[in-house]
Amino acid sequence: MTLPQIAVLSLGGTISSTRSGSGSGVTPTLTGEALVESVPEIAEAAEVSAEAFRQLPSPEITVDDLVELAAEISRRVEGGAAGVVVTQGTDTIEESSFVLDLLLDVDAPVVMTGAMRNPTLPGADGPANLLASVRVAASEAARGLGVLVVFDDEIHAARYARKTHTQSTATFKSPPVGPLGWVSEGTPRVALRPVGRHHVRVPTGSEDRPVALLAGALGDDGRLFSAVGELGYAGLVVEATGGGHMPSSTVEPLADLAARMPVVLASRTGSGEVLRRTYDFPGSEMDLISCGLIPAGPLDGRKARLLLSLLLRSGASGDEISGAFDRWLR
Ligand code: ASP
Repeated sequence: MTLPQIAVLSLGGTISSTRSGSGSGVTPTLTGEALVESVPEIAEAAEVSAEAFRQLPSPEITVDDLVELAAEISRRVEGGAAGVVVTQGTDTIEESSFVLDLLLDVDAPVVMTGAMRNPTLPGADGPANLLASVRVAASEAARGLGVLVVFDDEIHAARYARKTHTQSTATFKSPPVGPLGWVSEGTPRVALRPVGRHHVRVPTGSEDRPVALLAGALGDDGRLFSAVGELGYAGLVVEATGGGHMPSSTVEPLADLAARMPVVLASRTGSGEVLRRTYDFPGSEMDLISCGLIPAGPLDGRKARLLLSLLLRSGASGDEISGAFDRWLR
């Protein structure tokens, strides 16, 4: 029986960390091959080629790295890989998986995973996560679902996945919808398929378009919003309170900014859509939208920031940007 070919590309993180010589902490050092060799069962599930694409703590990964990674993944799939697994630190998987989901137009499963307990700890979860991810990447059922996050034997869609706990091995959840499926006795099961796909075409060599992410808070007077315009940002995402509400003192600086660059209104609650036509007081969602802010729909601030940044890289106009957020669930 010929086994499916799976490419494993590692970017670093706890899953590939070992104790450093100097201090008592761990740092990402394990190569892709060492990672795969540490789980002998993988060789029974797939013919794996492993490579260290980067060796970084996950907050160091940039959108430029992910643009390069997306091109590498496409090459691997064109070259015959049935699926691709990307390992990295869990801190930013919800962001990098979403960027790859927007950039990639492949049916082959692309699965991201990592670990919460490093390989030096009892009960390290990296080996189980890697094995489950290879099995999902090799599975027919996972084709055409977009980029997935496989963790703790659950299969999550990148567009909803979120790290929800600083230490739990069950840290990944998909707050609005739950997981798409799971891995049972080694077999991937897909119970739900997401509706539609969203892609942003980013020209090769396009420059990063930095987007600021700021949260609203009780009693905040908005002085940071006034500063954003002077710092070289190309856009702003505001994580407002509740359904999209800010202190009234922030409306003027936000409206001024929205006249100069796209300003997206997300919610800091972590689940549910931003409102559009429910509250009408100074600083309400109706007030802010009438000042030119773009509602983020169901995207949280972190995902909205990356969508906006990629749209800006793609050269989208203001109308195209609002249209992309508007159409998210249609
Ligand atoms: N700090 C690590 C990182 O995200 C944590 C992890 O790997 O889970 O790179």
